Amino acid sequence: MELVEITRNVYACLQEDRGLGCSNSGLVNRGGGLVVDTFWDLPHTREMIEHYARVWPGAARRVVNTHHNGDHCWGNQLFSEAEIIGHRLCAEGMVKESPAMMQAMRGAVDSDDPAMAGLARGLAEFDFAGVELTPPTTLFDDRLDLELDGTRVELIYVGPAHTQGDVIVHLPDQRVLFTGDVLFRLCTPIGWEGTYDRWIAALDEIVALDPEVIVPGHGPLCGTEGPREMKAYLEYVRAESKSHFDAGLSALDAAKKIDPGPYADWTEPHRILFNVERAYRELRGEAWDAPIDAPALFRGISEVAEEQARRSRS
Ligand SMILES: [Zn+2]
Repeated sequence: MELVEITRNVYACLQEDRGLGCSNSGLVNRGGGLVVDTFWDLPHTREMIEHYARVWPGAARRVVNTHHNGDHCWGNQLFSEAEIIGHRLCAEGMVKESPAMMQAMRGAVDSDDPAMAGLARGLAEFDFAGVELTPPTTLFDDRLDLELDGTRVELIYVGPAHTQGDVIVHLPDQRVLFTGDVLFRLCTPIGWEGTYDRWIAALDEIVALDPEVIVPGHGPLCGTEGPREMKAYLEYVRAESKSHFDAGLSALDAAKKIDPGPYADWTEPHRILFNVERAYRELRGEAWDAPIDAPALFRGISEVAEEQARRSRS
């Protein structure tokens, strides 16, 4: 975990992407301090707070959650004095999550199911004990503009793209943008509720805001090449999925067959299954918020990983 000064009074707390849950956070150190996203568990969030405490005059007065996935909000309770801000649908989604279930999954290292055991190993560095869901209470729908001692901060709803309540945080004067998981940089995205069209439109909107520095939800800092490349990835996977769908392949078989091509170097290329599944859902005309079978998809991605490894050896 490292603290990076992006410009005067604007910081990012970055975690190197090593798979699930290695998310990024931001700090606007003006007007009492505004933190963009907390981390997945209390130990990681405490470490983030220690980093921020090196530069802030006192605990931050505001926290913005970009969306409801636990790796962006399960540390909220450690900001007990702060106003917590998010989209209405972010707050609705957050209360449906279960830290206790995640803690149980983390303990399943000896599971007979290799996919579940693998997932448990991936969760080993996190500890969800003591997490109490603390959803935003300052809610908005389309947009919320803040002014922190002269620094303008625009919270803009761009969902349902990666999730139903996706918000980006824009500092127009500093030309800095925090995207949450609308942007994964050099790591393979997973989407939950949302559509390809909305996700691509959100990436276009990020480019149109013309930021100089983008803090993605996962992966290293970037410029607008980040959203451009991820848009190309989504368009590629959607087009490949359609041709396999038309040929009658299952989503799992399609995910095994699609060549990750230029995106093979992104971390966890096997996550492509989630993106193929989203394309298939759209091709079947299903709703953007129809529940997905996440355990089945995690089981599937381990098969896709094996197939991708076999192909790269041959
Ligand atoms: Zn995330």
